[in-house]
Amino acid sequence: MTFNELGLSEKVLQAVAATGYTSPTPIQAEAIPHALAGRDILGIAQTGTGKTAAFTLPMLSRLEQGRARARMPRTLILEPTRELAAQVEESFARYGINHKLNVALLIGGVSFAEQENKIMRGADVLIATPGRLLDFSERGKLLLTGIEILVIDEADRMLDMGFIPDIERICKLVPFTRQTLFFSATMPPEITRLTETFLHNPVRIEV
Ligand code: AMP
Repeated sequence: MTFNELGLSEKVLQAVAATGYTSPTPIQAEAIPHALAGRDILGIAQTGTGKTAAFTLPMLSRLEQGRARARMPRTLILEPTRELAAQVEESFARYGINHKLNVALLIGGVSFAEQENKIMRGADVLIATPGRLLDFSERGKLLLTGIEILVIDEADRMLDMGFIPDIERICKLVPFTRQTLFFSATMPPEITRLTETFLHNPVRIEV
C-alpha cells in the first residue's frame, strides 16, 4: 500500500513525500479513503499509530475544495491538553506546508489577545482545547457555524479530564451537517454514548 492509492491531493502527497513516510500506517490506510468520501469516522487508536496524519491529511485535501464563508473557520480539531494541541499544530504545519491556510491555536495559559487577533484575521483551521474554545465562543468572539469538519481526538482523555459536557456543548455549536472524525484509545460507556449522539453512521476502525 502506498499513499498514492488513497485518493489524497497532489499537494498533500508532496508534503507527505517530504516527511519521508513511505507507506501509510494501518489507521491511515483505512481511515483516509472514508474521510475523503465525507464519512464520519470512529477510530479506536492509541497515540503513536499515526492517527494525527489519518485525520489531518484528508482534512487538508478536503479544504482544497470549496471556500470559506466570510472568514469563518472551516475545521476544528479538539485536543484534551495544550501540549497535544501544540503537537497537532506542528504536524498540521508540516503536512500543510503547500497549503496557504491560517491556523489558530486556541489553548489555555496563553493571553487571549494574540489568539483573538488570529481569529479576527480569519483562521481557516482551529486547533483548540475545549475550555478555551468555549471561552471565545461564549464571549461572542468566535462563530462555529462554518465548521465543515470536526475532529475530536483522545476522547477517553477528555472524559478523564471532565471535558465531556464541554464537548457536548461544542457539538451543538457546529452545524449538524458537519463531518466528524472521532478518536479514542478505549471505549468506555460514556464515550460510546457520545459517539451514538454525535456521529452519523460512522465507519468504525480499530487498530
Ligand atoms: P501519531 O500517532 O499521530 O502521534 O504519530 C506518531 C508518529 O508516527 C509521529 O512521529 C509521526 O511523525 C509518525 N508517522 C505518522 N505517519 C507515519 C507514516 N505513514 N510513516 C512513518 N511515520 C509516520
